[in-house]
Amino acid sequence: MIILESFSLQRFNTFGINVTAQYFCRIKTKQDIIHIIQNELQVYTKHLFIGGGSNILLCNNFEGLVIKNEIVGIEFIKENENFVWIKSYSGTPWHDFVMYCVENNYGGLENLSLIPGTVGAAPMQNIGAYGAELKDTFVSLEAIEIKTGETYIFDNDACAFGYRESIFKKEEKGNYFID
Ligand SMILES: Cc1cc2nc3c(=O)[nH]c(=O)nc-3n(C[C@H](O)[C@H](O)[C@H](O)COP(=O)(O)OP(=O)(O)OC[C@H]3O[C@@H](n4cnc5c(N)ncnc54)[C@H](O)[C@@H]3O)c2cc1C
Repeated sequence: MIILESFSLQRFNTFGINVTAQYFCRIKTKQDIIHIIQNELQVYTKHLFIGGGSNILLCNNFEGLVIKNEIVGIEFIKENENFVWIKSYSGTPWHDFVMYCVENNYGGLENLSLIPGTVGAAPMQNIGAYGAELKDTFVSLEAIEIKTGETYIFDNDACAFGYRESIFKKEEKGNYFID
């Protein structure tokens, strides 16, 4: 993984604001993010995770490390008579995940189609549209604690979802990378 210096973030935020990250890297695997959390984050004064960059407003150059999440993939886990369990990696574009479900006739996420951003950012604010919310179909997520590098599972209740809210915007703000 390469850490770039003085990197323009213009292509990585939907406002297209041309600010610079002092340092910038792309993560493509779980090993990448674990390496970053365990070895790099102590070195930098600040860090910022970016998914699709559709819910951030970058006003100034960022003095620290910007980590662009490109960990993508979708996996079928299991199904029973009534439900199907699908896992998505956090850098997958949200709409790709919805389309995977629609194309396979897995109902539940259709109202959330075309919401910009990544799967990993979706629980941050319990994304919603047309009367549906992520929490209606969400089972659990894995998150890596920044302080320790340990992975924890948060089920639907543990995420404390509310209207455009979750534990990751409140008491656990900044404490985890959603994997
Ligand atoms: C045109 C437009 C339409 C929209 N419509 C809707 C809508 O209908 N409903 C709705 O709910 N929202 C909507 N949004 C908001 C946006 O789509 C969501 O907030 C989306 O989940 C943001 O995803 P992102 O990957 O772009 O997040 P980013 O903007 O990259 O990041 C948002 C925040 O989450 C953090 N973050 C990102 N990924 C992770 C991760 N893996 N782990 C930990 N922290 C992380 C970032 O550090 C940042 O603080 C809209 C936005 C736009 C621009």
